[in-house]
Amino acid sequence: MHSSSLATGHVTLVGAGPGDPELLTLKAFKALQAATVLLVDDLVSDEIVALASPTARVVWVGKRGGCKSTPQAFIEKLMVTAAQEGETVVRLKGGDPFLFGRGGEEVEHLQAAGVRVMVVNGITAGLAAVTSLQLPLTHREHAHGVVFVTGHAKPGDTGTDWRALADTAHKAKLTLVIYMGVGGAAHIQAELLHGLPADTPALVIQNATLPQQRHASTTLADLSTTIAREGLGSPAVIVVGQVVGGVAAAAEWAARSAAGSR
Ligand code: SAH
Repeated sequence: MHSSSLATGHVTLVGAGPGDPELLTLKAFKALQAATVLLVDDLVSDEIVALASPTARVVWVGKRGGCKSTPQAFIEKLMVTAAQEGETVVRLKGGDPFLFGRGGEEVEHLQAAGVRVMVVNGITAGLAAVTSLQLPLTHREHAHGVVFVTGHAKPGDTGTDWRALADTAHKAKLTLVIYMGVGGAAHIQAELLHGLPADTPALVIQNATLPQQRHASTTLADLSTTIAREGLGSPAVIVVGQVVGGVAAAAEWAARSAAGSR
């Protein structure tokens, strides 16, 4: 494409964070207010969309209203067309756009179409979920690193090698943060038990940072029975590792300090 034919509009992929509007970055907030067209994913709260300009055109491209989610190719086409029409397009995604958000695919597509694209980070759900319980993801004593991993592979993909991951997590002292894993928790648990001890602490956090947040603390051996018993479902993250072992004490502390600050 000749450079003079480049669209005058542009697209910004914006991370909306885990749900709580207060966790938006200032850059995300500014981009939201400047948008003339907003394409909104599932898992972005209404409160965040309400921060956009009242004159912005809002397109919901998630599964809301029981509809199937909008096909990716259609979303990409919408973005290109709007940008070519000179619009200031914001593509609002849950958490961070570059963590399991297909941000990479969208950037490639927009660049190939000659559309200017920028990306604004957001706080990823796994980090915010653990922080909401006042727990860290790394710790000098028991976690030297953290792995963000999906529990849901692309159809046809062989998926994550959970056994290899468990072995590495055990030897290298890594915290595992599993996204999209509640549906496949029984399988993930069985595979991880090949490399991690049965009593490894595990934590499931649903709707993190939202008023309806819930969590359950358990061990790797009891992970899927706990999820079933507590009725936990998507959106949730599963965290496996020694850092989440202190959850009961941390939750008690959090409750006490909240009571104290009232
Ligand atoms: N880009 C997003 C992840 C998108 S994949 C991010 O960085 O957070 C969608 C998955 O994210 C969900 O299945 C769930 O595992 C997780 N997730 C998103 N929002 C969440 C929330 N508020 N609480 C717990 N998990 C959440």
